[in-house]
Amino acid sequence: MPTDTGASPALSVKEARDRILAGLQPVEGVESVTVLAAAGRVLAEELTAREPVPGFANSAMDGYALAGHDLPVRGERRLRVIGSALAGHPYTGAIGADECVRIMTGAMLPPGADTVVMQEEVRTAGEEIVIGPGHRRGENVRLPGGDIPGGSRVLSGGRCLRPVDLGVIASLGLAQVQVRRRVRVALFGTGDELREPGTPLAPGQIYERNRYTLGASLASLGAEVRDLGIIPDEPAAIRAAMHQTMQADVVLTSGGVSVGDTDYVRQILGELGEIRFWRVAMKPGKPLAFGRLGGAWFFGLPGNPVSALVTFQLFVAPALRALAGEPYREPLTLHARTLCAFDKRHGRAEFPRGTLSRKGGAWFVGTAGSQDSSALSVMSRADCFVVLPAEAATIPAGMEVEVMPFDALV
Ligand code: AMP
Ligand code: MG
Repeated sequence: MPTDTGASPALSVKEARDRILAGLQPVEGVESVTVLAAAGRVLAEELTAREPVPGFANSAMDGYALAGHDLPVRGERRLRVIGSALAGHPYTGAIGADECVRIMTGAMLPPGADTVVMQEEVRTAGEEIVIGPGHRRGENVRLPGGDIPGGSRVLSGGRCLRPVDLGVIASLGLAQVQVRRRVRVALFGTGDELREPGTPLAPGQIYERNRYTLGASLASLGAEVRDLGIIPDEPAAIRAAMHQTMQADVVLTSGGVSVGDTDYVRQILGELGEIRFWRVAMKPGKPLAFGRLGGAWFFGLPGNPVSALVTFQLFVAPALRALAGEPYREPLTLHARTLCAFDKRHGRAEFPRGTLSRKGGAWFVGTAGSQDSSALSVMSRADCFVVLPAEAATIPAGMEVEVMPFDALV
């Protein structure tokens, strides 16, 4: 693909994401980890149940196990309690006619029993219980394979393992699983004005923020982050930093990709690697340099803290998921009615930060405050992006719009 020399027009958000995802292949390399360590990792094998789960018929209730043909059709029936079955302690005898076994939740059904009558639905009378009509054969019994049939496929490769999945894997008796190796990301921020928090500021300086927001976002996506720190706006320093990223799958930078006098990042990417595109028709986040640097995918995010996060969510997060081996899925969105007007320029997608509220079963969205792309605290107070498509002009109050709740993002 030819390097973007700067003459090509800005891409639409969809076009930019499609172009990014088109080239990505999942990273090679798998590792075996314990089930607990597999949370948030991407499964690299197909898991099949060798045995059914549960492996034996057991009780879903505390009560009495009996043979279904002993249930009374009308009137009452007395059964003799001949023993008890506890979870982990089966009753080893068999049940004969007019007999039952006291049974607790999770205990194995004794031979001859196929039904459990709940304790609350019987009367006890010495060594006997009295059961009334209205019961069904097989009630309150969990059958073998009722959760997972033996031989069935349980989880497929490419699944990002959630806490519930770890329980499912444990239920198969597996102690280890194969997962894809973590995606390696090299991260740095650029700017002469940036200082580390905890140090004093000289006039004109500000505290660096993007390595915090991006670093934490990367960590929650399961990436392995190499933090190269703050790099000054000097071509030699940026070149040196880029040379240090060669082991990475992804290089993520912020700042220096626009058209300012000290915006060297894009220029040096063009020198050392390849620029695939660098403008997207969106706000915030217009300058976004995407390309190759050695064997890595390069994302040069804009420096404004809100722009860096929006472009991370829209482009970098899906790319990292694809590299980690997950299939692409659109972010979850919902529809909400605007509580105020949202200023908007036709011809570019805009993602103002909003706050959601719910009234009478419907969602409403208002502005979270200043839509300046440096206002990070406004984004911190917000709980969604309002998704305004390129074709739209200013959206008045009372219109239905799409919103992307932050809860559904990283
Ligand atoms: P740039 O993209 O380098 O032109 O930066 C745009 C704006 O974002 C400027 O106001 C920078 O001071 C600010 N900025 C750039 N990088 C960071 C950062 N890592 N943390 C906080 N602000 C930044
Ligand atoms: Mg800068």
